[in-house]
Amino acid sequence: MSELTHLGLAEARDGLAARRFSARELAQAHVAAIEDARALNAYVVETPEQALAMADASDARRAKGEAGPLDGLPIGIKDLFCTRGVRTTACSRILGNFVPPYESTVTANLWRDGAVLLGKLNMDEFAMGSSNESSAFGPVISPWRRPGDNRPLVPGGSSGGSAAAVAARLCLAATGTDTGGSIRQPAALTGTVGLKPTYGRCSRWGIVAFASSLDQAGPMARSVRDVALMLGSMAGHDPKDSTSVDTPVPNYEAALGKGVKGLRIGVPKEYRIDGMPAEIEALWQQGCDWLRAGGAEIVEISLPHTHLSLPAYYVVAPAEASSNLARYDGVRFGFRKDGGNLIELYENTRGEGFGKEVRRRILIGTYVLSAGYYDAYYLKAQQVRSLIAGDFTTAFEKVDAILTPTTPGPAFPLGEGSADPIAMYLNDVFTVTANLAGLPGLALPGGLSGDGLPLGLQVIGRPFDEETLIRIGDVIEDAAGFTARPDAWWGGR
Ligand code: GLN
Repeated sequence: MSELTHLGLAEARDGLAARRFSARELAQAHVAAIEDARALNAYVVETPEQALAMADASDARRAKGEAGPLDGLPIGIKDLFCTRGVRTTACSRILGNFVPPYESTVTANLWRDGAVLLGKLNMDEFAMGSSNESSAFGPVISPWRRPGDNRPLVPGGSSGGSAAAVAARLCLAATGTDTGGSIRQPAALTGTVGLKPTYGRCSRWGIVAFASSLDQAGPMARSVRDVALMLGSMAGHDPKDSTSVDTPVPNYEAALGKGVKGLRIGVPKEYRIDGMPAEIEALWQQGCDWLRAGGAEIVEISLPHTHLSLPAYYVVAPAEASSNLARYDGVRFGFRKDGGNLIELYENTRGEGFGKEVRRRILIGTYVLSAGYYDAYYLKAQQVRSLIAGDFTTAFEKVDAILTPTTPGPAFPLGEGSADPIAMYLNDVFTVTANLAGLPGLALPGGLSGDGLPLGLQVIGRPFDEETLIRIGDVIEDAAGFTARPDAWWGGR
């Protein structure tokens, strides 16, 4: 039954509908694959019993003719989403063994449509990172390796467990979250497809908050069609999230196959950054050629404030994080380390409960928000953010979407980037802009690097125009014909 794990999400949906296999068989195949792949450390909680029970319930619904759009399809959930009765820790020690008594809206939508939970996926602690090395449960190992080189590589972050699990066939699709690139960058590094929706498209309710004005949930899968299918279930208005937007959820799958004829696609000259590897530039040109061949017009555009986006992001995101993470005090839930008095209790709990990167962000965030520095840093960063959003508004008067590389390079060996936080932050140079402007972004594989690793292209769109991204992604996917897969060195089937 192992070939069942190699189906796409939509293919498995069609196979279930045609009764070629049952939801139970599909779940069993994935449970076995997950057991074989513990070396990747992609899952931090496995829920095999729940998966089989949900699969049986799905088979029963189908027998009665009541199957939903995702009925019987096994998926993984990033550990940032609260799942009722299933441990949720944001991969931080400070949440201890927290078991939420409620379900996030996005995961509730997925279960409503019949999806099956395989378990919770590893991630950078509180979604802070680009390599999945800051998890309290240890790093995720990418299923990819350079040919002839056994050094473990990072899967990207912070949704590194989601990306690794999708790439290694340990789920048909997964949820991710993206505050500055955490869906798109790991998708690029693992040869998978990830979509960060427009801010407000998916409810943030029940997702552990990192930077509330930037956080957005989205799908990760192995094809553009599969992310379209997932997004259709994840998206929607939610009165419990005041920033969730009440606009109808289109049929995203219907955007496939429409082609790009007549579309104008912008290429921002400021994204041609110093020191960008030649193979990234070549991939970007290739992407333009594919779209031109499909009948699109490629237009050079300018996003003049691009160089300010990383500095603005690394002020705004830590500022919001320092405020959101103030609630972890050792009193109400999670990890607690006692002290002689209340202040010592706080200090001990937060000192030991948070990892190094999270502490760094809290310190930066507290600093930029403090009296005397607020105007110089936080306010300035917010002003810059408006300028960056304005650049996009101007560009979208001329073009329908924007094509860029997803990351400045392929996956790197474990331990190589984590020594230098600034170098790690550079991973997000092409992705943070979409978060600062609230725009949707799609990442998909375009080809392989010289050392045999996946490289990604990114398409950024107008607010709530995920359909155009899917249309363009579909054309790039067809043209790229990306079929490379990691060798199953971990013992995968
Ligand atoms: N890598 C970025 C950071 O560390 C983005 C993380 C994210 O999108 N969650 O903040």
